[in-house]
Amino acid sequence: MSAAFKLIPTTQKYDWGKVGLSSKVAQYAAAYSAAGFTLDENAPYAELWMGTHHSSPSRLLDSPSQEKLSDYLAAHPELLGSPVIERFRSEGAAEGNLPFLFKILAIEKALSIQTHPDKEMAQRLHKERPDVYKDANHKPEMALALTPFQAMCGFLPLARIADYIVDTPEFAALVPQAIREQFLSIASSDDPTGPTEKKALKDLFTAVMTAQESIFKPELEKLVARYHSGGAKASEKDVVDLALRLNSQFPGDIGVFCAFILNHLVLKPGEAIFLAAGEPHAYVSGDIAECMATSDNVIRAGLTPKLRDVPNLVAGLTY
Ligand SMILES: [Zn+2]
Repeated sequence: MSAAFKLIPTTQKYDWGKVGLSSKVAQYAAAYSAAGFTLDENAPYAELWMGTHHSSPSRLLDSPSQEKLSDYLAAHPELLGSPVIERFRSEGAAEGNLPFLFKILAIEKALSIQTHPDKEMAQRLHKERPDVYKDANHKPEMALALTPFQAMCGFLPLARIADYIVDTPEFAALVPQAIREQFLSIASSDDPTGPTEKKALKDLFTAVMTAQESIFKPELEKLVARYHSGGAKASEKDVVDLALRLNSQFPGDIGVFCAFILNHLVLKPGEAIFLAAGEPHAYVSGDIAECMATSDNVIRAGLTPKLRDVPNLVAGLTY
């Protein structure tokens, strides 16, 4: 076999994926029908993986035994080359493991509010909770829009968050008065990444993400009722649409309030974003190609039925 060969990717069905052939994942996988893929028109096709991650490895299309890509690369070390093998030896490159994972995502329903650890934090988390953080690797990721793509990503400018505190009483009510006043006092600072400013943002975000259900649930109900009854300014249309979309998918979830804290990006096909370690984000809708370090380490805090690890999320963010 030559150095260029076709792979059989794998698909993952998660409940947030687009259904049937409306999903780019299903469309690409269907192109491999010769390799045994059969379409289920009713299934949510969320992710397509190409790579060597042990939980869902790609295989070689033209190999009689459908050999794993990692086995083939291990048997042919010249394909990765010794500089790459040396550089990524600790990630298992000598055993044929690629240091990156390539995916297609087809997003119908928002993914969780999340961040990814740097290497140091990943090693600590993996040691402390190997059941949740299944590898010791970092997971920087890059997403390229294939169709119009919406995401929440990184913190809004401080002044913008301050405007939401002033204009949105239901959001302001989640934050204790002292933290709110401190935040408003630094919101128009000339040095938004200074230590006082970073601390004020961290305190505000922590207060929101750790708000008691008895406080935030009624406030969210009030907010949704006000938005449905047209009680928002025309200039707020973007955040109203986002908050209502998130609440319709995750009713009563604290993550809906992240619409007032994180940037809301709308990417055209061909545009891309890079997410370094510690960047808070949540993909909202669309189809993307995604490339990341080979890792599954996700620290979640909202918009998810999975485990929420708020202390580690707020501790590990870039403010
Ligand atoms: Zn992510």
